[in-house]
Amino acid sequence: MNKDLVTAYDIVEERRSDDLNSNVVVLKHKKTGARVLVLENDDDNKTFYIGFRTPPVDSTGVAHIIEHTVLCGSEEFPLKDPFIELAKGSLNTFLNAMTYPDKTVYPVCSCNDKDFQNLMHVYLDAVFRPNIYKEEKIFKQEGWHYEMEEEDGPLTINGVVYNEMKGAFSSPDDVLDRKIQNSLYPDSTYGVESGGDPENIPDLTYEGFLDFHKRYYHPSNSYIYLYGDGDMGERLKWIDEHYLSNYDNAPVESYPTFQKPFDSLKLIKDYYPITDDEKEEDNTYLSYNYVVDKTTNIELGYAFQVLDYALCQGQGTPLKQALLDAQIGTEVYSSYINGILQPYYSIVAKNANEADAEKFETIINDTLKDIVKNGFDKNALYAGLNILEFKYKEADFGNYPKGLVFGLNAFDSWLYDDNMPLDMIECGEVFKKLKSLIETDYYEKLIETYLLNNNHKSFLQLLPKKGLQE
Ligand SMILES: [Zn+2]
Repeated sequence: MNKDLVTAYDIVEERRSDDLNSNVVVLKHKKTGARVLVLENDDDNKTFYIGFRTPPVDSTGVAHIIEHTVLCGSEEFPLKDPFIELAKGSLNTFLNAMTYPDKTVYPVCSCNDKDFQNLMHVYLDAVFRPNIYKEEKIFKQEGWHYEMEEEDGPLTINGVVYNEMKGAFSSPDDVLDRKIQNSLYPDSTYGVESGGDPENIPDLTYEGFLDFHKRYYHPSNSYIYLYGDGDMGERLKWIDEHYLSNYDNAPVESYPTFQKPFDSLKLIKDYYPITDDEKEEDNTYLSYNYVVDKTTNIELGYAFQVLDYALCQGQGTPLKQALLDAQIGTEVYSSYINGILQPYYSIVAKNANEADAEKFETIINDTLKDIVKNGFDKNALYAGLNILEFKYKEADFGNYPKGLVFGLNAFDSWLYDDNMPLDMIECGEVFKKLKSLIETDYYEKLIETYLLNNNHKSFLQLLPKKGLQE
């Protein structure tokens, strides 16, 4: 990178990464403190994103509504729907925006230099100078508004996000995921619904909505990512001159709140809607969920994915088999979820019954104790690790551009620690170490520490109920 072009930034780190086949440059914008991560390489499928920490404090979906509305026209691109217009005329290989429980990200990818520059321009203008301040109707259209379909008819609520979330709230799998998160983090950022709960969305006012944007959509709270070929110095210079230099340093408190660990298991019984034709029998979800330290504990995170493979993912793994043998549900699955401050591990039996609850819990605990006592099948651990390592080395993400996946995965540690922009994706050494630990009792000890002796856990029983939905 030509240093003369990036004098508006401090270079925090610059080095070669063989793992990522890139020159890595980490920078900080001098005036605003905006964080910048650059991966320079010869990939012509370039990626740019700007992201912000956007921790919600309620379930009005404000972060999600902002995401939709900033893409409805901005100062330099006053089109009604630049997003759709762009998608049509552009050579992009990816163009979207995503709201997560604690952040919002605006990524674009393109193989064409001019197109890439243009997309970057439209997105930066959208997030920093959206028309939402001038036109309240954008908020109403994307968020929520009252509607009367016919004269003297009933007042109903409509809105793009409102309708989208109503759909999401009627899918039982989505309801389960959400209630698991609510159960584990009741006092933190992750205890509310960032996408918006249809019941709470109408509580959001236009002023509250604008305040959220003012507060979090500032360079000082931003993360800028560039990947691929071309002149990165030139791009950073342009970003500074066109946008960042117009702002002062205004740090905002946006770190997600930490959930204090529980003293004991939390037992929760809750409901999801079914129609009159659906049956209540064999339709309950049983889920056992554990918070596993912090997401910045990279080694532990990957170790858990290996452990999960040997415990419950693969066919015939001890926990999956024991639950299926006991005929608890027709489907048993598990997942390790990171990308939030405190990751969690979850074991689920689907199409089960409330009456199986005790057995479900006993089998989980007995199986885990047995593994701690008698050890894992080491071959299963090797297999799990090999799969993970192969995927990592191959770095083939199907239809998704590599730069996009690198950038989004990098965010899983970068968001929580400025000094860890790449730890999540530059992990060749971690895999080596995890392999060397298979012949020790490391993985068995993880079960003891993070599952059996861990009190920050919940047992959620999600039962079907008729008439829950209007
Ligand atoms: Zn949406």
